[in-house]
Amino acid sequence: MSIEARKIRLIMELRRQGLADTAVLSAIERIPREAFVPPTFRDQSYEDRALPIGHGQTISQPSVVAVMTQALEVDKRMKVLEIGTGSGYQAAVLSRLCRRLYSVERIAPLLREAEELFKALRLHNITTRLVDGQVGWPEQAPFMRIIATAVAAEVPGRLVDQLSEAGGRLVLPIGRRGRPQQLLRITRSGDSLLEEPLGEVRFVPLLDGVEETGRAARDRAS
Ligand code: SAH
Repeated sequence: MSIEARKIRLIMELRRQGLADTAVLSAIERIPREAFVPPTFRDQSYEDRALPIGHGQTISQPSVVAVMTQALEVDKRMKVLEIGTGSGYQAAVLSRLCRRLYSVERIAPLLREAEELFKALRLHNITTRLVDGQVGWPEQAPFMRIIATAVAAEVPGRLVDQLSEAGGRLVLPIGRRGRPQQLLRITRSGDSLLEEPLGEVRFVPLLDGVEETGRAARDRAS
């Protein structure tokens, strides 16, 4: 089956799962997931599964990207912050739907690869930073939308602080490593927060600090 046919099959599968937001579906259709997947897994680009991207990390499952993107309810006027650039795939999808996407990552080589892809795909409204994303991006706050693609035990307070008070929204997985995790949507209005559970998910953990090269180089060798 051609990669185009596999892509269409995936989009139909997402529709069947109840994904109805046509803007989200067309963003997924327009971003070539195969470009974000390592060559050895490329034939699985349009399977609905997470795949390894090196450094112990994964590119999220397409249906999870779709659910999180839909739950964010992004529009073209919005500034959006993503914690956990990883392969850059989720960032690329979001960049088609918002005004400007800020994406932060803690592993330097992953971020460099993602930045190159953004350039090659001409996704010019993405700005990145190598940082521990638990601090957010205070200079650019407030954000109308924040998404975290790594799991924390609790909602990071600094991310909530950087949400717009006028309906700012945060979508993130919460839980402990290896245990069932809950996808949450938090909507801020002034000082009050509305929390909605969106179902069970599995993400890699949100970790402290930044990795310049060290462990990354060792992972590649093994
Ligand atoms: N959105 C990514 C998913 C990558 S997996 C994609 O579409 O491919 C989660 C990513 O979060 C990993 O790359 C991991 O290194 C990163 N991460 C984990 N803890 C982090 C932190 N504190 N700050 C920034 N990034 C973090």
